[in-house]
Amino acid sequence: MHWADVIANTLLERGGKHLISTGITPSGYIHVGSLRESITANAVYKALKDKGADADFIYLVDSYDPLRKRYPFLPESFEKEVGKPICYIPCPDGCHDTYAEHFITPFLEAIGELGIRPRIIWTHKLYEEGKFTEIVDLVLRERSKVADILADVTGRKMPEGFWPFSAECPECGMFSDRIVSYDFPYVHFKCKCGYEGDADIRKGQGKMPWRVEWPAKWKLFSVTCEPFGKDHAAAGGSYDSGVRLCNEVYGMEPPHPVPYEFIQFKGKGQMHKSTGNVVTGTDALLITPPPVLAFSVLRYNPERHIDYDPGMGILDIVDEFDKVETFYFNGGADEKEKDLLRAYEIAQPSAVRNKLPLQVPYRHLVSVAQISDSFDGVVEVLKRSMSIPEISGEDMEVLRQRLECVRHWLNAFAPESVLFTVSPERPDVEMSDEERAYASELRKRLADTEWTGDRIHDAIYETAKTRGLQPKACFQALYRLFIDRRSGPRLGFFLSTLDKSFVLKRLDEA
Ligand SMILES: [Zn+2]
Ligand SMILES: [Zn+2]
Repeated sequence: MHWADVIANTLLERGGKHLISTGITPSGYIHVGSLRESITANAVYKALKDKGADADFIYLVDSYDPLRKRYPFLPESFEKEVGKPICYIPCPDGCHDTYAEHFITPFLEAIGELGIRPRIIWTHKLYEEGKFTEIVDLVLRERSKVADILADVTGRKMPEGFWPFSAECPECGMFSDRIVSYDFPYVHFKCKCGYEGDADIRKGQGKMPWRVEWPAKWKLFSVTCEPFGKDHAAAGGSYDSGVRLCNEVYGMEPPHPVPYEFIQFKGKGQMHKSTGNVVTGTDALLITPPPVLAFSVLRYNPERHIDYDPGMGILDIVDEFDKVETFYFNGGADEKEKDLLRAYEIAQPSAVRNKLPLQVPYRHLVSVAQISDSFDGVVEVLKRSMSIPEISGEDMEVLRQRLECVRHWLNAFAPESVLFTVSPERPDVEMSDEERAYASELRKRLADTEWTGDRIHDAIYETAKTRGLQPKACFQALYRLFIDRRSGPRLGFFLSTLDKSFVLKRLDEA
């Protein structure tokens, strides 16, 4: 059984309503690993829905968290913003109302492309609207118990006079943990800046620390399941303290944990060629077709480590996806591949299609994209070279999306070895007599060959055989003649995408 169904069944045993929660502090560019969290949460949500459960899915944007430091991508002027809540810091590029919005908006749009549409909740608004008032009041009254639990779980001594609250200073805008006293609804504090006054816990004038706030959200929303990075799951980590707080302070059953492993980059292609930044979640979606990206996460158990290779690896992932897609519609999967079919199903941003979609090998798209600049041009070449009479509207959309991914990938991450341009004039390359004779015979054969990839491929081989040549040497000669390189895309298909008379003329010029 697929892991999402296993988790859903465990949750169903708990009974009642189900709430899957996930979230992030949008303090910078969101790493591709964070996509795993959303994809995992959505999979459990979908599996519950498929079983007819009463389920909901929320995404908490931790917009009230302070900026921890001035990250390298921030201008020097942001030095003074460090320590302030990110919902009140300006957008670093001036394109959004706040810092938090600047980083979360593209991420939420990206997961929307994956068909992931949780209810979005902004943590600073929960505080402002007084949603946390009762809970904050509770932890302030129980502060010594809270301190004991935290000390016990983390094995660290808590600071003298610990309060599970930081007040937001109206004078300097920073959070202050120098709390003096509490008398509902006011927390009296003395800020480092010299300000002394009261924070009203009903009005979003302060917040709980992370370890206390996380389970407070579980309590507030009655969360029943939450995926989180494995670092939180470590012994003495924040899930452990959350469980203790649930049981001993909040009086609730803690959510079912789904710890997941990180996604790591593989190969050299982890830097964006022009920006030099590491691949963000948004980049990953620009270069990987959305259902393919979701599938590449869903196929593995959350506790399994995933390598993400934004270089050539992308091509293999798409091929694998297409293979599973064929199994899904045409059968042929063996027993251990059954879970892949379910992963394919959950990975669809909308309903699963009712028959096998048109499949254009992704590597073909990579070469056609370099031959034709326009979408219509690509469609025309594909129709001709693959003998596709008609392309349905749905298939056209898939094709358009894939082509966009291919173009982004070619611009930003593709290794040099796959890039080529077809020289309109014969490149200035030396051809031996033997190679020239080969080209001339191939030209004769191709003149009568049906213009498809397979037929051309056969002609290239047969000509080599009749002349007693190594096919590899012939391939190299042809690559030099057409793209001035020693290697390139699959030759038969590649030549079929070019105009036949152009190919014959170039062979004449050999
Ligand atoms: Zn912005
Ligand atoms: Zn202050």
